[in-house]
Amino acid sequence: MLEVFPKPWSDASSLSVWKGLKRSYTCNICNVTLNSIEQYHAHLKGSKHQTNLKNQ
Ligand SMILES: [Zn+2]
Repeated sequence: MLEVFPKPWSDASSLSVWKGLKRSYTCNICNVTLNSIEQYHAHLKGSKHQTNLKNQ
């Protein structure tokens, strides 16, 4: 059986360590703070961010 488990470093607490950052991600273009890398990536792909990116 092939079961995919998250790699240890994908854990949020470990991530914050190797990123050297707190567990929040700020988009400087939109001036919004996201609580996870997943939310941050989703934000970057979102229409709100794309619009701000063009308008800056
Ligand atoms: Zn943004």
